[in-house]
Amino acid sequence: MRKTTEQIMRVAGDRIWEYAELTFDQIKFSPEVVEACRANLCGNYGRCWQCPPHVGELEELKAEYSKYPQAFVFTTKHSIEDSFDVEGMEAARAEHEEVEDLIRPVLPRGSKVLGAGGCNVCARCAYPEPCRFPDRAKSSVEACGIDVVSLAKTAKIKYTNGENTVTYFTLVFLNGNES
Ligand code: SF4
Repeated sequence: MRKTTEQIMRVAGDRIWEYAELTFDQIKFSPEVVEACRANLCGNYGRCWQCPPHVGELEELKAEYSKYPQAFVFTTKHSIEDSFDVEGMEAARAEHEEVEDLIRPVLPRGSKVLGAGGCNVCARCAYPEPCRFPDRAKSSVEACGIDVVSLAKTAKIKYTNGENTVTYFTLVFLNGNES
């Protein structure tokens, strides 16, 4: 874990705002998070392979991720004009995803990255046709029923970072093998 953290910070440290190392037991899976997805505020519920309900039932997700003993969580912090600055938020998300791309090569083989927001590999998900890019498809932390507020608290990192900023989270599940 320590070696992976060092490698992540070597390649992306200047772009990471806060980070923490966690064990699986510290990560809370919550039915309320899945319920919030059902409200479909983002419009992706039921329309993407990587979003509920197609991403799997909460108990299945928990069982799947319990195979990963360790996890690394990080945030990036971005300035935006105000809370209506949708363009700024989208640009910030793209910057956050650049950090995910930077760290991927140094993650142990088999690690699983849960990002911010739904899978955006395709402009429109192929659902109900088969996923076009199963190797690149990515779920979000929330889509897997993980409570990000609780995650931030456990990790002792901030969920938000003040007025006119947006903070994005990525959670990487690590299988314990360090390269
Ligand atoms: S890679 Fe494309 S088809 Fe597959 S889940 Fe993501 S958006 Fe959908």
